[in-house]
Amino acid sequence: MQGKLNVQTENIFPVIKKFLYSDHEIFLRELISNAVDATQKLKTLSTRGDFKGELGDLTIDVKIDSKKKTLTVSDRGIGMTADEVEKYINQIAFSGVTDFMEKYKDSHEPLIGHFGLGFYSAFMVSDKVEIFTKSWKDEPAQHWSCEGNPEFSMEEDKKHTDRGTDIVLHIADDCKEFLEEGTILQLLKKYCRFMPVAIRFGEESVWVDSETDCDKDGKPKRVEKKQPRIINDPEPAWKKSPSSLTDEDYKKFYHELFPMNFEEPLFQIHLNVDYPFNLTGILYFPKVRKTIDPNRNKIQLYCNQVFVTDQVEGVVPDYLMLLHGVLDSPDIPLNVSRSYLQSDGNVKKISQHISKKVADKLEEMSKSKIENGELKIENSAAAATPNPDNSQLSTFNSQLESKWDDIKIFVQYGMLTDEKFCERAMKFYLLKGVDGSYYTLDSYREKIKALQTDKDKTVCYLYASDAEEEHTYIEKAKAKGYDVLLMDSPLESHFINLLEQKIEKTRFVRVDSDTVEKLIPHDDSIPEKLSKEEKEKLQPIIEGEIDKQKFTVQLESLEENDAPMQVTQSEFMRRYREMAQTSGGGMGFYGELPESYNLVVNINHPLISRVLNETDAEKQKELVHQLTDLALLGNGLLKGEALSKFLKRSVEMI
Ligand code: ADP
Repeated sequence: MQGKLNVQTENIFPVIKKFLYSDHEIFLRELISNAVDATQKLKTLSTRGDFKGELGDLTIDVKIDSKKKTLTVSDRGIGMTADEVEKYINQIAFSGVTDFMEKYKDSHEPLIGHFGLGFYSAFMVSDKVEIFTKSWKDEPAQHWSCEGNPEFSMEEDKKHTDRGTDIVLHIADDCKEFLEEGTILQLLKKYCRFMPVAIRFGEESVWVDSETDCDKDGKPKRVEKKQPRIINDPEPAWKKSPSSLTDEDYKKFYHELFPMNFEEPLFQIHLNVDYPFNLTGILYFPKVRKTIDPNRNKIQLYCNQVFVTDQVEGVVPDYLMLLHGVLDSPDIPLNVSRSYLQSDGNVKKISQHISKKVADKLEEMSKSKIENGELKIENSAAAATPNPDNSQLSTFNSQLESKWDDIKIFVQYGMLTDEKFCERAMKFYLLKGVDGSYYTLDSYREKIKALQTDKDKTVCYLYASDAEEEHTYIEKAKAKGYDVLLMDSPLESHFINLLEQKIEKTRFVRVDSDTVEKLIPHDDSIPEKLSKEEKEKLQPIIEGEIDKQKFTVQLESLEENDAPMQVTQSEFMRRYREMAQTSGGGMGFYGELPESYNLVVNINHPLISRVLNETDAEKQKELVHQLTDLALLGNGLLKGEALSKFLKRSVEMI
């Protein structure tokens, strides 16, 4: 029989070829998923008792014949009768595709890979495609053939007696790479790695005990043996029940997914939802230390175990792309553009669900108690997560504390970018003291409230960005009985702003942003020892010896035994500068501000009185230098030549 394919667009083949050029490798995924479907349908018929024959070996075969220049995909699934070929292949279920092509013919969006052209995608790489198929029903086999134009031929095929379908692609000259074993293996590994039916391609070597040869100790020699290569894992971990998997299994699967990631993941979330949408998957938390990984293609999206993409922008919120793993859902529409994907209702629900699960998991980890190095889990849902290495736990109160330093940036990023996640995270977010203790936001406020509330009833949270560099200031604050937090992530300045908005009557101040008295202003002011005239005289003496572009002299009435001079940096200016530097654009003004400091002079200190009363101008200068240098030294600002001079001068003075 000869016939004409029922397609509306006159000649769709050149379109298929040209239009889909960028992503034509997906043909293999399409053909193998058809083979998988046909196999699974047969299994269903068999379990229901409709098919009573032997299932036999259901492995799908992919074969290259370089002489004939063909690539063949064979399955032993349900096959097709003549009527079915007519219905499914000839009456191309193309209406969707033609509409689609019509709509997007002028667009250059890279969306084609996500839209299943199905069987016809074979023409992207072939001059001619043949189908040999025999249905599971008692009907003759069919041979269908088409040379990339709307004419096809179809006839009974007496030779073909085995159930199933062979799709034979006569690879076009300009697509020769698809006759190379390496190319096909790579594509199979990319798209078919977790398909649910075994797929056989080529051979691989294994080392086995020899049956005939022994070494001198009488042990069988190890010999290389060739065996058919199965390229996929038909039962990937995410499809299994979480209770059947150990932490080791999860780790093993992680390395199977990302063979090039050598670091162990911290922990994982196993997703398993079937209502109101279908979603399975495993998301791993990697260590996120100092930077946010710009390489965010570590989440693979599958549709019923068929790889779709690892570009998941729009499918999951930005911060979740820091996680690694797999998501599998038949409910994510794949035949649409990315912008459509972002506004799709199901996609939104799925992404909200994932975000909620992540927050739940972290909250549950914050509730787990660690007693005597043993993890006690209050919530039974957490039982699926086996205990982490106990030896690491002894100093931590909860499982979350033990992982916090590695996931803090992730949580901050989520809180800054996702309102709902932020609300949830306020319950478990941890602040870390410079001494290494962890506190929830509520418990920390309780802890510091009494001593660190200022005269306006605002609770002042003191923090350091670098415990080493700000050591002097930390010590001063501690001496006053204050607590100091360590806030050292690159997102911290943005994050502090967020906390100040979220928690009423809260102010964050870095320990070096003012003198310790003024960090948390209370009502009790200290009487001044210098008169107005004396202060007016002192100011220019000190200003004459410093870089006025960089330092502003501030005369203050502090405790007598406080330092004579200190360098501080305004919290506001510093924080906004940092924010401008990490957010790129929009806040340019702040980013361009020069770095500026305050030189705080303690007018009650005896040495300052000495400066004022010194009659020898040279000696006065020297004294001011020495004092300013000491202040700079305390802030880590005294370097190079200035430092050498200071050292020399100090020795002379002693
Ligand atoms: P889709 O798979 O999206 O339905 P295709 O164009 O890939 O579209 O296939 C059309 C139909 O042809 C399938 O739905 C199936 O009924 C039939 N078919 C394709 N490949 C096979 C196969 N290997 N075995 C049995 N039937 C097949």
